[in-house]
Amino acid sequence: MTEQQKINWKRSGDSPVIQDISKGAVHMLQFPLLEQQSWISHGFSTRMGGVSEGCYASMNLSFTKGDDPEKVRENYRRMADMLGMDMERMTLSFQTHTTNVRLVTEEDAGKGIVKERDYTDVDGLITNIPGITLVTFYADCVPLYFVDPVHHAIGLSHSGWRGTVHRMGRVTLKAMKETFGTKPEDVICAIGPSICQSCFEVGGEVVEEFQKEFAPSYWKELFYAKENGKYQLDLWKANEIVLLEAGIQKEKLQITDICTRCNSEYLFSHRIMGNERGNLAAFLGIR
Ligand SMILES: [Zn+2]
Repeated sequence: MTEQQKINWKRSGDSPVIQDISKGAVHMLQFPLLEQQSWISHGFSTRMGGVSEGCYASMNLSFTKGDDPEKVRENYRRMADMLGMDMERMTLSFQTHTTNVRLVTEEDAGKGIVKERDYTDVDGLITNIPGITLVTFYADCVPLYFVDPVHHAIGLSHSGWRGTVHRMGRVTLKAMKETFGTKPEDVICAIGPSICQSCFEVGGEVVEEFQKEFAPSYWKELFYAKENGKYQLDLWKANEIVLLEAGIQKEKLQITDICTRCNSEYLFSHRIMGNERGNLAAFLGIR
């Protein structure tokens, strides 16, 4: 059985939304809609094709979860090779479930990889500098990709349930508008691999936050109650609503059909593995 056959696709239509591309043992997921933009390079890592061991096996992209940094660096080298981008000009987020978005400048190239990060609490990154690749981290939370083909600017944001309820998608678009003049109707967007509704059980206190932020007409699509007093929450739908309300055109939005928790052999899942695990990463760069 190949690694690809292990994927339990969650399809939203007749054919998978996301493509699985590979080079040697390395597998990476890509959105066809973003891939049409030849001036950018993007991808979402899998666990396949890295050199890390144990609970980090094998493509761990986090330097901060206890893995051997030399192995993580080799994993980055392999991802940079897949992406056709320069590893030494990647810029890493510092995620703490905020809605802080950082403008990545030339000076930030390599921060988190070859230079220390001199910032904290950054869950979103934007840039318009060719050669820089933005990198954010995941193990069930939702990656949001933003590509503005008019201004040749990009954004990449981490949107867990807290980020989602605080409309990280809208916040990122606002930062791109203020910095680059980006208009939401031009932007091509993707909601990346993350936890699906049937895997994401939450308590009433989380649902209350969503009830405060989202109009009652959406509630039926966003969550349902169960006999144990808990709820199943749909972060894909919630982020879709956030993006459409912020002005993204439906035909320019591609939504994941792959769940991290349903595929924990293939993708890291916090809900399956807890803290003893590696991290996946989303990559988005300007060629
Ligand atoms: Zn799932």
